[in-house]
Amino acid sequence: MVVAQPVTIKGDCPSVAVIGGGAIGLGIAWSLARAGCAVTVFDRSDAGHSASWAAGGMLAAGVETEPGEELLWQLASRSQHLWPDFRYALQADSGRDIGYRDEGTMVVALTRDDLEQLRFNYEFQRSLGIELEWLSSIEARRREPYLNTGTAGAYFCKNDHQVDNRAVVEALKRALVKAGGVLREHAEAAVEMAGGRAVGVRVGDEVLKADIVVVAAGAWSRGVEGLPEEVRPPVRPVRGQLLYLRMNPAEPLVRHVVWAPKAYIIPRRDGRLLIGATTEERGFDTKPTAGGVFSLLEGCWRAFPGIEELVLDEIVVGFRPGSRDDAPILGPTSVEGLVMATGHHRNGILLLPVTVEAISRYILKGRVLPEIEAYRPDRFRKVTGGKS
Ligand SMILES: Cc1cc2nc3c(=O)[nH]c(=O)nc-3n(C[C@H](O)[C@H](O)[C@H](O)COP(=O)(O)OP(=O)(O)OC[C@H]3O[C@@H](n4cnc5c(N)ncnc54)[C@H](O)[C@@H]3O)c2cc1C
Repeated sequence: MVVAQPVTIKGDCPSVAVIGGGAIGLGIAWSLARAGCAVTVFDRSDAGHSASWAAGGMLAAGVETEPGEELLWQLASRSQHLWPDFRYALQADSGRDIGYRDEGTMVVALTRDDLEQLRFNYEFQRSLGIELEWLSSIEARRREPYLNTGTAGAYFCKNDHQVDNRAVVEALKRALVKAGGVLREHAEAAVEMAGGRAVGVRVGDEVLKADIVVVAAGAWSRGVEGLPEEVRPPVRPVRGQLLYLRMNPAEPLVRHVVWAPKAYIIPRRDGRLLIGATTEERGFDTKPTAGGVFSLLEGCWRAFPGIEELVLDEIVVGFRPGSRDDAPILGPTSVEGLVMATGHHRNGILLLPVTVEAISRYILKGRVLPEIEAYRPDRFRKVTGGKS
């Protein structure tokens, strides 16, 4: 076994190895590299090309909040507030535009049944303090002229924005390397343990020492080799299919993010039109299905019949890292030197800034921010008496 040189520690910063180069791992590593830490990200494939590539990029803290997610909404809302500064810093460091759009999000009802559901969600979300505006069908169609003429009603959330998640991961990779971080792709990493603590990572027969190991391996986090059983995060892949259509950017068919009853629809500036997303429990099956594609197209077509004319460019399959309680798993574990940043499920792009802030702060200052107290990895052990 080859033992590589330990990563050098600059100043007071610990050396950090991050397992997983999705948005979460890259974001944490970029922030630590900026602070002067020696940090290396390991990705077993092309970094940024898993869930973070497949995502829709909605920053939908408001309209996505459902009953039972009141606590998660606070974290999501904090992250939503952090996004503008995060965006400027990332764009400045990377020299790349990340396609942030702030037109807001519209939720529409197409039938009377939908309208009842819409009213319920509207009242519930407003009760949390989310700023929403009720729209008549005429007003909805004024803002979205190609919306189905039979639209029954809608509401609008001005603070739910979107970002081009693919541009975000490309920018993060660039910003990380510019800040002095190291990105190693096609390098599957295992946790290296010694004396009961994490001491680095193993890639093949090479061991790289680090003071802190961060597990940010998305839907694969549970299976990372070398993790002690008691800290294996209860994360599973929640499969999602998503489609890319192409519209004329000069005359876009859709202008805002629109949530229809059976699909959400996301217009990008360059004319891409995303339709998402299925939610499936099928393990890591990467093959798209006719049923998945059909339900997305039908869901979108009911809201925007004009999509019939558009070109279908791409079918994407991705794996959301879903935890046992659907909430993220963030912070130190009972194993010294081992930190978790996983389980972001359907909100990993939205939760990126708050995750980066909280995990970097912990690594640099040793302090767990109150925002992530409820999401600590040991919460599952408390419930199950040791098994996670
Ligand atoms: C269809 C779909 C739509 C979505 N839409 C949205 C949305 O609109 N808004 C939103 O906020 N979120 C959305 N999400 C959720 C979001 O994509 C995820 O929560 C987020 O991308 C998770 O980021 P991650 O970095 O944890 O995981 P990933 O991006 O999956 O990255 C994990 C990385 O770890 C690597 N890896 C795994 N094991 C190892 C190992 N042993 N060694 C080295 N590397 C390893 C993988 O190769 C991968 O690159 C969506 C997800 C899907 C699937």
